[in-house]
Amino acid sequence: MPWFVQVITQKDISNMKNTGNKNSFDYIIAGGGLAGLSLAYYLSKSELNQLNVLIIDSSAKNNNDKTWCYWSDEEDDFSKICEKEWSKIGIQGKASELQVEEIAPYKYRKIKSEEWYKFIKNHLKAYPNFQFLQADIEYIHYAGLGTMVETSKGKFLASQKLFDSISPFPYDQEDPDQLKQHFVGWYIESNFPAFKADIAHLFDFRLAKGMDAEFIYFLPTNSHTALIEHTLFSGELKNKEYYEEKIKNYLLANYNLGEDDFRVLEVEDGIIPMKEVNIPQNLHQKWIKIGTSGGFVKSSTGYSFYQTQKILQKLVQHLANKDFDQEVNPKSIFKKWLDATFLEVMEDPTIDSNEILLQLFEKTEPSLLLKFLQGETSTTEDLSVMTKVPKFTFMRAGFPAFFNILKKN
Ligand SMILES: Cc1cc2nc3c(=O)[nH]c(=O)nc-3n(C[C@H](O)[C@H](O)[C@H](O)COP(=O)(O)OP(=O)(O)OC[C@H]3O[C@@H](n4cnc5c(N)ncnc54)[C@H](O)[C@@H]3O)c2cc1C
Repeated sequence: MPWFVQVITQKDISNMKNTGNKNSFDYIIAGGGLAGLSLAYYLSKSELNQLNVLIIDSSAKNNNDKTWCYWSDEEDDFSKICEKEWSKIGIQGKASELQVEEIAPYKYRKIKSEEWYKFIKNHLKAYPNFQFLQADIEYIHYAGLGTMVETSKGKFLASQKLFDSISPFPYDQEDPDQLKQHFVGWYIESNFPAFKADIAHLFDFRLAKGMDAEFIYFLPTNSHTALIEHTLFSGELKNKEYYEEKIKNYLLANYNLGEDDFRVLEVEDGIIPMKEVNIPQNLHQKWIKIGTSGGFVKSSTGYSFYQTQKILQKLVQHLANKDFDQEVNPKSIFKKWLDATFLEVMEDPTIDSNEILLQLFEKTEPSLLLKFLQGETSTTEDLSVMTKVPKFTFMRAGFPAFFNILKKN
């Protein structure tokens, strides 16, 4: 008798109806959000699609809890479910004209998470060995030959691998010295045609007050609808009313939309850590952290949709090839240093972060900058981008960043 039967009680087993009374799976995916469902998707498309996989999430994932944007220079599996894609981006400084840039060969894409969850779940219907369990995960622990996941609906054993996208990312959200990207966004519909939907406005700094990066992110999807977010890169969080006031003021000042002129269809908010953390992972382990928990969010931008796809496609390939010596999320020390230097600059209260971001976009060829922000540039291209930033500022920040990186590696 396998050892784990001894720790699962009869009552637990009767709680496992959703999974056909199975309590042991080859793989368990803890958290079926972006990373968990992406992993299930790529597993199902690989030679590993015969494995028994259990995906556990506390939520049914059937609402639009997030908007995901990313840029890409190719059509991918999700291009067809994008709500909208743009080939132009806009950057607006405090005192300058709106700068509009063509971003070819890239497209900036927007996906409603609700559509994406639906797409993945429909795809997985063809794989009955991939099962879903809606339950709260209470505890995960190594258990002899596998990894045990204790949930509100019973205990489940991952006999080969447990992929964890629910463990907290190691940082203190309340710490005012810890830089984070925080935002509130509204998806609105105006009562009359108000927007031109051909430009994705990534940064509008006109509402920025101090040295912290503070901007409006405005994505008009047609003449009546738009996602508008107010974002700050800072240690201190603000109360909800602060962001909402900024959004209302922006709509009134720029589109002449008073509060009675539009409806808020959806609200989203987020606090994304901007911190370089070395999360030790390797494919020999039975418990592998993925997603935000695994450090997949790019610390300098807060984006992770694109990175998550790339990392997990590779991870599945390595698993299928039994190439366990490969790193899950490899990043060169040089790239880590660039990100850490950028974060040092953003954290420095004596430097106007808005000006730095503006300069970066004003001076760098847009497709090169987007490639750089994606982390896909060569060293020569990295150096070319670095010549566009204020040299003294970045050199000063580069030293502490370098020693921090050395300490962590
Ligand atoms: C509002 C918002 C907008 C964002 N927009 C973008 C964007 O435009 N582009 C981009 O690249 N990135 C964006 N991000 C950043 C990042 O891509 C997302 O946060 C992404 O969802 C992270 O993926 P994940 O799998 O790590 O976490 P999630 O997608 O949050 O998945 C984690 C899952 O675990 C489940 N879970 C957690 N705890 C438990 C538990 N104890 N028991 C059971 N289930 C549990 C949750 O229900 C959730 O489904 C955004 C983030 C937020 C918050």
